[in-house]
Amino acid sequence: MQGTLRQRLLTALDGLTIPTCPDAEMDDTPRLDACADENEYASRVVEVGMQLALRRRMEARRLEIEEALARMDIGAYGVCEDCGDEIGAARLIANPTAKLCVHCQADRERAHYLRCA
Ligand SMILES: [Zn+2]
Repeated sequence: MQGTLRQRLLTALDGLTIPTCPDAEMDDTPRLDACADENEYASRVVEVGMQLALRRRMEARRLEIEEALARMDIGAYGVCEDCGDEIGAARLIANPTAKLCVHCQADRERAHYLRCA
């Protein structure tokens, strides 16, 4: 199973294209004086914000995949980081980058929900 999952992770990693800055020569921050008017400036701000959010999500995803591959290399793949139990095969097939077993994941989500509620 791990060979198949490794292949899936590598394919996912290959398919990740991390967007570059909208203005490669300048920095990401839109400048009012570089825009025709305030409307253009406002839409540039929104556009850059979305691009940055997407880039951050992609970078986080790449990290998750790289970490899963690293866990495979050291033989720690499929072992829950919190309790040390095996992560179920069905869970790994559904989510090959899972670091927690379903119980620990539920605990974390519950704790997060209680903190944020
Ligand atoms: Zn666990």
